[in-house]
Amino acid sequence: MKKIALITGISGQDGAYLAKLLLSKNYTVVGADRRSARDDKWRLRKLGVENKIIIEDFELSEITQIIRIFNKYKISEVYNLAAQSFVGSSFLNPISTSDVTGLGVLRILEVIRNLKHKPKFYQASSSEMFGDVLETPQTIKTPFNPVSPYAISKLFAHYTTINYRKAYNLFTVSGICFNHESPLRGEDFITRKITTGLSKIKAGILDCLEVGNIDAKRDWGFAGDFVEAMYQMVQQKEPDDYVICTGVQHSIRELLTHAFETAGISDWEQYIESDPRFKRPAEVHALHGSYAKAKEKLGWEPKTSFKDMVVSMVNEDIKRLSNDLR
Ligand code: NAP
Repeated sequence: MKKIALITGISGQDGAYLAKLLLSKNYTVVGADRRSARDDKWRLRKLGVENKIIIEDFELSEITQIIRIFNKYKISEVYNLAAQSFVGSSFLNPISTSDVTGLGVLRILEVIRNLKHKPKFYQASSSEMFGDVLETPQTIKTPFNPVSPYAISKLFAHYTTINYRKAYNLFTVSGICFNHESPLRGEDFITRKITTGLSKIKAGILDCLEVGNIDAKRDWGFAGDFVEAMYQMVQQKEPDDYVICTGVQHSIRELLTHAFETAGISDWEQYIESDPRFKRPAEVHALHGSYAKAKEKLGWEPKTSFKDMVVSMVNEDIKRLSNDLR
């Protein structure tokens, strides 16, 4: 019998990479999508998995839809990747963000708790929970100090995941992931914003890029590497929580340097305008993690270098735009 995995947030970046990974391991993959009728499966198409997974309607605010999926399939593993995942939007929509990103996890776990056959559960936690960091590097023992509605919602979800493990003996794990990017990253996020903007500059249809603080630093990894850690966590004998990161910080300035170099454009500074609108009401400045526990217990390490990842994102965006313009 093939194992059935449920991935929520299947239309997102990580959903596509994880679906591909689980298919390669012979799982039946059920992908939960809140607007399944729409034709917006470009990430799944890009990875060649669109027609290999079962798509089901799923809205995290709607408990009846969660119950329906668990009644329909005998699910072995749940990967909860769905969330209102953009920190900036969470300041504009704090209530719906907490309903989906926070309370949504409680809804799933309450449904699982009441099932006869209880699947394992992975929660996509975030380094944003460390917020205004209290120690560096951040490990699984670092105290949290969230500074956005997104991070506060993720923290609620994180502790709920731990509580259902302790209180009800469920197999629940939480992966505290630092930023991870890829050519499939949403265009709202700074990395993709830069690489899509750059492809337009190269094509001569955009004059400049508006960015916030270019000296801001992040610990950026590759999404394809991170989904392997998610899978590994769920395969362990004992459920536990892990920090997943690269352990190396890079600035937006470095990102711009690699990106423009890849596009063959020198003197990138003349194409950049600083725009204070892109600064958040409260910023996280020093996210910098340690994946020591993941290395020791899961044997996991990031494989893709920052530069290689930026190069692949730039090349993909240039190719995408030239196909669109053709
Ligand atoms: P993403 O591309 O933004 O995907 C988020 C997914 O959640 C999308 O499929 C989205 O569907 C779905 N979703 C949003 N609201 C929903 C709702 N009300 N009901 C059901 N589905 C809903 O995010 P990602 O980069 O793949 O990240 C995956 C998860 O990891 C997220 O929970 C994110 O917060 C977390 N995380 C990501 C990073 C990172 O750097 N990528 C780091 C730490 C944690 P639509 O397509 O319909 O919007």
